[in-house]
Amino acid sequence: MSKDIKIIGSGFSSLSAACYLAKKGHKITVFEKNNSLGGRARQFKAEGFTFDMGPSWYWMPDVFDRFFADFGKKTTDYYDLIKLSPAYRVYYGINDFISISDNLEDIIATFEEVEKGSGILLRNFIADAKKNYDIAIKKLVYRPGVSPLELITPETALKVGQFLSTISKDVRKVFKNERLVQILEFPVLFLGAKPSKTPSFYSFMNYADFGMGTFHPKTGMYDVVAAMESLALELGVKFETNANIEKINIENKTVKSIVVNGTIIEADYILSGADYHHTETLLDVEHRAYSEKYWDSRVFAPSSLLFYVGFNKKIENITHHALFFDVDFEQHAKDIYDEPKWPDEPLFYANFPSLSDPSAAPEGMESGFFLVPLAPGINDTEALREEYFDKIIKRFEDLTQQKVKENIIYKKSFCKNDFVDDYNSYKGNAYGMANTLLQTAFLRPKLKSKKIKNLYFTGQLTVPGPGVPPALISGKLVAELLEKTI
Ligand SMILES: Cc1cc2nc3c(=O)[nH]c(=O)nc-3n(C[C@H](O)[C@H](O)[C@H](O)COP(=O)(O)OP(=O)(O)OC[C@H]3O[C@@H](n4cnc5c(N)ncnc54)[C@H](O)[C@@H]3O)c2cc1C
Repeated sequence: MSKDIKIIGSGFSSLSAACYLAKKGHKITVFEKNNSLGGRARQFKAEGFTFDMGPSWYWMPDVFDRFFADFGKKTTDYYDLIKLSPAYRVYYGINDFISISDNLEDIIATFEEVEKGSGILLRNFIADAKKNYDIAIKKLVYRPGVSPLELITPETALKVGQFLSTISKDVRKVFKNERLVQILEFPVLFLGAKPSKTPSFYSFMNYADFGMGTFHPKTGMYDVVAAMESLALELGVKFETNANIEKINIENKTVKSIVVNGTIIEADYILSGADYHHTETLLDVEHRAYSEKYWDSRVFAPSSLLFYVGFNKKIENITHHALFFDVDFEQHAKDIYDEPKWPDEPLFYANFPSLSDPSAAPEGMESGFFLVPLAPGINDTEALREEYFDKIIKRFEDLTQQKVKENIIYKKSFCKNDFVDDYNSYKGNAYGMANTLLQTAFLRPKLKSKKIKNLYFTGQLTVPGPGVPPALISGKLVAELLEKTI
């Protein structure tokens, strides 16, 4: 039977859920508080430059393919992908970097050059990571997190040790060179916790990295948002932007209506892809399933200091994605997770989409995106942002051996306060709740409210966790769960 389902937020998880539920014949309206769709993956244009505001690494292309295939479509019906070559570069000092190629054989050769004997070790490590990837995709991540039994399969039984050990420990058992260790620890940073707190089973992210590669939608990550919007419109979904949900009204443990910019709107079901904590604050306290104490005790993914920068010249000695690991990784991680403070010497990440997509910047110019991960909840001021911009741009100039600061013709910052203001993000987290052992699968906040009959949740604080591919999966899982109750 067709139901009237209102969805809060237009991030990837909401867009995904909207498509699956519309396909089932329901009447779907998506309400987004901001003036454009995509949530953390919004895009903006300024002075001829185009900036994706959030995600930039398109990993796990099979998950995107599977999403569109569920609707009888192909990704290529909507956007083209470029496989980046090299995938990325990691800087350790002046003219001192390791480039990660777009294929495993070359990466094995690179490892061998850095540490004799490590090539064959890498081949075996990635073969095991691939097994984990297959188990994760076939047996684990497409499960709704309802029961611990979801984790118990003949395949996972053989991998128990990898759930109890950490990626940090297991990588170090095999590789001795600190640079190679860092490169292998890097992919799990997408899961939001320190590698020393992330189960070793998540080495499947290493397969995603080295085995599958890094892609770039031809005109940026927003291509995926636009594709999902087109698909949703084809399926009859309605979108309302500048539509802030202010309250969820409950009667007899059932949502009766929501308040959108002061107007009461009724619904059969409410599904929220906004940050879980925020959605619960839209309920009166007695209807919330999780306490403030619960949220405060969780490990959240970092917040971030971001800069969107337009340069009036082409930048040299760079690749599309670049990681600046020339300072102490452990100390920065400590400053995020253990004793939160602004790091004295920050690691940072930069990308230059105009290298792969000329439309991202005016001719002869470059668009750049710089990111420093920070502790969620950190003090955020204009002065601190500027201090850190100066720090990283100076390091960038030194490490890539060129002057760029005087060539900046556009610059916009985005930091913790913006994550809170723009997305109602808990403590200004950038990408949700981390995937630690105790925050995996059925141990994550539930897709279905434990207290309200017709209230559902999706997104990076639920299953399977942070990242764009998990957001697509989360939307599918919640749509299936909701559908079961109709
Ligand atoms: C800087 C950054 C870099 C990242 N890099 C990558 C990457 O390279 N690769 C990758 O896979 N992932 C990356 N991620 C993570 C990825 O972007 C997210 O996990 C994913 O986009 C989250 O989608 P979501 O649907 O869960 O939430 P969101 O995108 O946050 O969507 C929630 C939506 O709800 C809206 N909302 C909130 N409150 C209300 C309200 N009261 N009324 C109406 N609407 C409301 C918000 O405005 C927002 O649009 C990155 C994230 C960030 C921030």
